[in-house]
Amino acid sequence: MSPFRLALHWQILIGMLAGAVIGVSLNLFASSSSTRLTADLPDGLSAVEIEDRSGRAEIGLFRDGVLDRTVVIDPADSGEHVYPTLDALTDSEPEAARLYRRHGGSLALSVGATARKLGNLFLRMLQMVAVPLIITSLVTGVMGLSGNAVGRMFTRTLGYYVITSMLAISTGLLMVNLIRPGLGGAVVLGGQVGEVAEEAPRLSEILFAQIEALIPANPIGALAEPNFLSIIAFTIAFAVFAMRVGGTTADRIHEAAKTAFSVIMAMTTAIISLAPIGVFFLMLYVTATQGAAVFRSLGWYVLAVALALGFHAGVTLPLILRYVAKRSPHRFARAMSPALLTAFSSASSNGTLPLTLSCVEERAGISNRTGSFVLPLGATINMDGTALYEAVAVLFIAQLHFGFNLPLSQQIVVALTALLASVGAAGIPHAGLVMMVIILQAVNLPVELQGIILAVDRVLDMGRTAVNVWSDSCGCAVIETLEHRVTERTIAVES
Ligand code: ASP
Repeated sequence: MSPFRLALHWQILIGMLAGAVIGVSLNLFASSSSTRLTADLPDGLSAVEIEDRSGRAEIGLFRDGVLDRTVVIDPADSGEHVYPTLDALTDSEPEAARLYRRHGGSLALSVGATARKLGNLFLRMLQMVAVPLIITSLVTGVMGLSGNAVGRMFTRTLGYYVITSMLAISTGLLMVNLIRPGLGGAVVLGGQVGEVAEEAPRLSEILFAQIEALIPANPIGALAEPNFLSIIAFTIAFAVFAMRVGGTTADRIHEAAKTAFSVIMAMTTAIISLAPIGVFFLMLYVTATQGAAVFRSLGWYVLAVALALGFHAGVTLPLILRYVAKRSPHRFARAMSPALLTAFSSASSNGTLPLTLSCVEERAGISNRTGSFVLPLGATINMDGTALYEAVAVLFIAQLHFGFNLPLSQQIVVALTALLASVGAAGIPHAGLVMMVIILQAVNLPVELQGIILAVDRVLDMGRTAVNVWSDSCGCAVIETLEHRVTERTIAVES
């Protein structure tokens, strides 16, 4: 490698900053446009006016020279004739959407759309290797363990997930009680106390669905979907039973998995070298379409979430790393930085998984058997950042809605449901927002109030995804050390 070649995490950081700077500039200086059309209009329309301003598009439809109605595309607003996305507009007003596609859109929006497509190519490459990587890596990892080590590792891993998620939620609750982001302003909300979303799934249903996912009725279907929980459960069962069958069968399967794993890992490494470019485009997309507002609005709320995430990632997890895993948090964070920065930019822990696996094994020196066991499971069910975020967001909404803090008993309900909701959340962008419905329902808050926090969800999603991945990685270090101690003790007893 050339001595002048920057380390990968620096390249990714530069890609991210460059994307953000260009995107914010475009959003500032090239996000407005206005067009008036009088020709080539569908039946009955005499004119159409399209105005784009900082992510909000207004389409005025005129009949006989008189304004008939205005339809709006705005992810941060809701109401009659207001649609969160162009796709949503297409469903209800296909003609307006067609005209907007042809004649609307500022430079910032069109650059954003192209950047999104290019950034998604990188995510697709990561998705491409995710399933084969999980399978080969898990089979190699599990078959490298002795029989009772699998059970022990499973219990420990789950223990780590629950403890760190609860610590994260407690930090979030503490911060939102201290900062009280929803109690300072003069915001008045129209929601009625006690309104409950009828279409919201029940918590017990969500949990049962997770248990069902552990037993895929059709493992091939689970591969195609892909349903990570089903794939993980089936692969672990397959590897454990291969060990039970033993003999040459087990040897051959283990050997084949190792061979395939090395090839997939080489592919992953090649894809990862493209991370700086992928991250550049993803950042450009977010900032060009949403502007600096993505970092600015709803300031106190964002501050509460950011401080709580920062405390969990910068104090709690490093303490666990230092005193339980006996590792330098600083060095470990450096080793994990390509995965953390990619998680931040892509807001998807599933998408980042191949990179996380490779960083843990190749940069942090953690064994494949630990990484392949802890990470795929963690990317699906261990989400400290999401759990923390759910707790803060729901308490913030409750503060805005009721005008006071929820009592302790209700906060405990929020904490427990946030834990379960984070287990149920998929490792994809905005999954946490979807799961929040369950918690809002648990404390009788109307779901529409989620609209208030939509505008800043993306930036918070980026932060919480990075924390999710960081917690999974720290989990690897912890389990690795605990397993090591067992091995040493066993060797000492045997000798
Ligand atoms: N985007 C998060 C993740 O992939 C999930 C969430 O929305 O909280 O980990």
